[in-house]
Amino acid sequence: MEPTILKRADHNVSRKNISSAAVKVLYRLKDEGYTAYLAGGGVRDLLLDRNPKDFDVATNATPEQIRRMFRNCRLVGRRFRLAHVLFRGEVIETSTFRAPVPDDDTVYCENIFKTGEAGMVMRDNIFGTPEEDALRRDFTINALFYNIADFSVIDYAGGLDDLKKKVVRVIGDPDKRFAEDPVRMIRAARFAGSLGFSIEESALQSICRNKEKLAHAAPSRMYEEVQKLFFCGHARDVFSWLEKTDLLHPMFHDFSHWIDEDKARHDWVIQTLEQMDRWRKAGLRVHPALLFALIFGEYHEYCTKELIDAGMSDHDAARHAVQHHLRGMCDNVRVPKVVIYQVCDIMVNQLRFQRTRGRRPSRFIQSRGFLDAFLYFKFSSKAHQRDLELLDFWTGLRQNTKQKPAEKSAESTLEEQECSPSQAEPTAE
Ligand code: ATP
Ligand code: MG
Repeated sequence: MEPTILKRADHNVSRKNISSAAVKVLYRLKDEGYTAYLAGGGVRDLLLDRNPKDFDVATNATPEQIRRMFRNCRLVGRRFRLAHVLFRGEVIETSTFRAPVPDDDTVYCENIFKTGEAGMVMRDNIFGTPEEDALRRDFTINALFYNIADFSVIDYAGGLDDLKKKVVRVIGDPDKRFAEDPVRMIRAARFAGSLGFSIEESALQSICRNKEKLAHAAPSRMYEEVQKLFFCGHARDVFSWLEKTDLLHPMFHDFSHWIDEDKARHDWVIQTLEQMDRWRKAGLRVHPALLFALIFGEYHEYCTKELIDAGMSDHDAARHAVQHHLRGMCDNVRVPKVVIYQVCDIMVNQLRFQRTRGRRPSRFIQSRGFLDAFLYFKFSSKAHQRDLELLDFWTGLRQNTKQKPAEKSAESTLEEQECSPSQAEPTAE
């Protein structure tokens, strides 16, 4: 198929807005005689006048050839073999054009294609043409190329039209593409939410038919994508799409049923997501443990109360509630153990805010986990209008303590960030 090609004069993608590292990689490949395209989300975002999160390069050079070309390069990926070209503070993912997935479900070439349960692609690493590479991507808006050789934009899938129409459209048959990789369904919700687009009707219907297949997705990829959902700066809108498409249930089974039972529970989640978005807009990074603690906080507190009523101690109940829930999610979303422990600490540490006598407060405030626990405590006090005197006590103590530079060093990076813009403080208005 002939692609649509937009000449430089007919689009707004400029090298000025591409990171210098990506431009270097593109030019080096081109100068060595290879085809070199900027690909994927970077081109989409530049065309939309947005700041791309990262820049990916697609080329006809093989991973080995790329490695020989760049000293600062390592080959990664079991599923896809691709090159990471490393620059200070930036990694340019550079992959060889890939061929499409074969139509039948059989393993026809060992170690190249293996098709697992329910038609999912387990391994694919066969090289293809630029067109094939474009058409094996998930959505038309993610399949655009920017050609460094003549600065044109190349569109094999109709992505330019869909950018204009503001629609997320699957490339090919949605049922087949979602069966190949169920994570694409939550990616559709993410792009619709973060770009303010709609999801094309046949894809919406297909999500409805296929959503249970999320249970077969690789749990570690689910974890990556779940983080992207909530850290993208439009978590609230993404969440609305997850609800609209009913993807929330297969992703977070117990939790989603629990929030459905009571509007106040739902409101808590929305408030935490809005807070995430405020933090992101202020340029702040929240680490995953605080994210999970906040989003699931009310649920974890509810489960904790049930365990206390059943006779467990406060401390054990808080820890058990978090572990039970987040480990349970592991079937679908593999939250790393270290993150689960950190979420536990945030919740267990909530008990320490009640103890304001003696030397306990100053010991707590200097402990490693204090800041995250405090951010949670502050958010939840304001959201529920409870413990406000305690909040004043700890805010005052924290301000006094912060003036001592020696104590500052023990705190996490969010501390520095949290000090700057005031909107970054957890608020629940
Ligand atoms: P973001 O701005 O969030 O990084 P992105 O579009 O760049 O969005 P990535 O996850 O970084 O998304 O992936 C880069 C590109 O790789 C996508 O634009 C898409 O073309 C392709 N891609 C990623 N995941 C899939 C998938 N599951 N199936 C098919 N293509 C995919
Ligand atoms: Mg990207």
